[in-house]
Amino acid sequence: MIPSLGCLPDDLQGKRALVRVDFNIPRSGADVGDTTRIERTIPTIRWLLDRGARPILLSHLGRPRGFPDPVHSLAGVAGTLASMSGLPVRFVAPCDGPEALEASHDLEPGRVMLLENTRFSRGETENSPTMVRRLAQLGEFLVLDAFGSLHREHASTAGLASTMRPAVVGLLVQRELEALRSLDEPPLPFVVAFGGAKAADKIMLLESLIDRADRLLLGGIVANTFLRAAGLETGGSVVSESEIPRARDLLQKAGDKISLPVDLIVASPLAVRNRPADELYGGKRKPEKEKVRPRTVLCAEGVPDDLAAFDIGARTRQLFGGEIRQARSFFWNGPMGMFERKKFASGTLSVARAAAEATRDKALTVIGGGDSAAAVQLAGLASAVSHVSTGGGASMELIAGSTLPGLAPLAEQELRDGKLTW
Ligand code: ADP
Ligand code: MG
Repeated sequence: MIPSLGCLPDDLQGKRALVRVDFNIPRSGADVGDTTRIERTIPTIRWLLDRGARPILLSHLGRPRGFPDPVHSLAGVAGTLASMSGLPVRFVAPCDGPEALEASHDLEPGRVMLLENTRFSRGETENSPTMVRRLAQLGEFLVLDAFGSLHREHASTAGLASTMRPAVVGLLVQRELEALRSLDEPPLPFVVAFGGAKAADKIMLLESLIDRADRLLLGGIVANTFLRAAGLETGGSVVSESEIPRARDLLQKAGDKISLPVDLIVASPLAVRNRPADELYGGKRKPEKEKVRPRTVLCAEGVPDDLAAFDIGARTRQLFGGEIRQARSFFWNGPMGMFERKKFASGTLSVARAAAEATRDKALTVIGGGDSAAAVQLAGLASAVSHVSTGGGASMELIAGSTLPGLAPLAEQELRDGKLTW
């Protein structure tokens, strides 16, 4: 059993709670992007404050190379957290120096502390014992609420989880685990949709789901790869060449469960590449070099060499929508097309809408993957499905049945009457 907040000792008054959160949020420029991950951490912070504990938050942001880099500072996120929660937030840098230790002891009750990016120190990704020791001094107990980072063996995740006691998961992680675990024995029929770009990851997940799922719907680059494996022409579409043999194996093993697109929206890849995505969502348009003229081709007829697939077609949307609407449980990972551009967003949005309809008919619907989650947000349907996961890699590993390195050490703690002790 993985202990949660309720397993902590009863008296938390004045205790410093080191909380590993995942504030690694997609950003454009210096602005803080989609803030779902911050929002879902606030209940954990409040839970701790209500019991007199002093929350000290740790997170990484982006991929700095082990030294301070202003572009990846969490300073701006501190302001966002303060305005979203209405709580006083103190920001301290660096996360593993004497300043942080002193500030952690000085933190007044009712206040929250956010530390600078953990990846500003090399020890974070190396999971160095020195870094773990320094961080562990910052709290009397650990709360892991960074679902999106639990598949990483870093100092502030797996390192702290195997060092600090007591250690529990926060409310965000608890909710993620409940939602994703409910797909271990999903209500049937269980329909799965895969799309997006990282074909190698998705095919691995497909292999692990194939026995559990009744139907697998494929879109995006994953579908292009399968269409090629099925011997169809994909023209200039992006295909994951190295995955074709595995796709062929899967088709042989479970072809009757797999639904490939029957039609695709295609366009000239040169024209598409010449137009940055944000121009199409309200920004100023530059003079056009070549117009993007999407048209539909039937998969059976093949994609011409000078064109590439960027979305599933109308017939496929209808087919996939029908399958999703009659599902009792549905898992979706990876957009059906290049949804960042309006002209290629229909397939992805139609899957999001079908998922919302299935949810209304009492199906369990779970969305995993950063871009898929963003697409559901874009469609305004995030609260119309059962669960939108805040973790891409972590949700995939859980669904595939792997143990997350950040969680395994937590389960080893001994509980007395359901409680942990100091
Ligand atoms: P997720 O983050 O949900 O796991 P991925 O990261 O695997 O999804 O894939 C998302 C990306 O795949 C998006 O940027 C989208 O534009 C791209 N994509 C999907 N279909 C296509 C396609 N047919 N051609 C090119 N890019 C595609
Ligand atoms: Mg992605």
